[in-house]
Amino acid sequence: MFLKIEDIGPEGLEVVEPVAAGVLASWLGDDDIYQVSGDGTVELRADRVGRDILVKGRITAPLKAECSRCLADIGLGADVAFTVLFSERSAFGPAQEEAEGDGGQQFYSGPVIELDEALRDELVLSLPMVPRCAEDCKGLCPSCGVNLNAGACGCVAVETPVASALRVNKRKSLS
Ligand SMILES: [Zn+2]
Ligand SMILES: [Zn+2]
Repeated sequence: MFLKIEDIGPEGLEVVEPVAAGVLASWLGDDDIYQVSGDGTVELRADRVGRDILVKGRITAPLKAECSRCLADIGLGADVAFTVLFSERSAFGPAQEEAEGDGGQQFYSGPVIELDEALRDELVLSLPMVPRCAEDCKGLCPSCGVNLNAGACGCVAVETPVASALRVNKRKSLS
């Protein structure tokens, strides 16, 4: 996805564009936690700020993942607000280019702004590293494997240190 600088008038420019599931999948790259379950959308507004271009908007993307505790499938509507300031690259010395990707500032050169990289970063960085079906997901019983969100199992309530250690290991291998 790109913006033509000449299309951004004094009133700004508003764009709503679908993002195909395949493009979202390429943004996620080899992420093995999240899968894309459909097309997404990018809505944005671009405004001139002197020679810079301020781009504000949101990305929505239907994703799915497995809860890291109870392994249930979670449907996840990612909805990410972003603000990125694009500065014209030629206006800066080489030293400033090292700041690229830092704190919502990017650079552009030429007649178009390539947005994909910035959008990808915003989406990927917004996703929790360890997805959960709910903040208070109770997970699986370490002894019998029952999903404890559905109710207590018949196991002894007091967790032995061994079971606790096993569960920690299991979580580590899942994350
Ligand atoms: Zn869960
Ligand atoms: Zn149990």
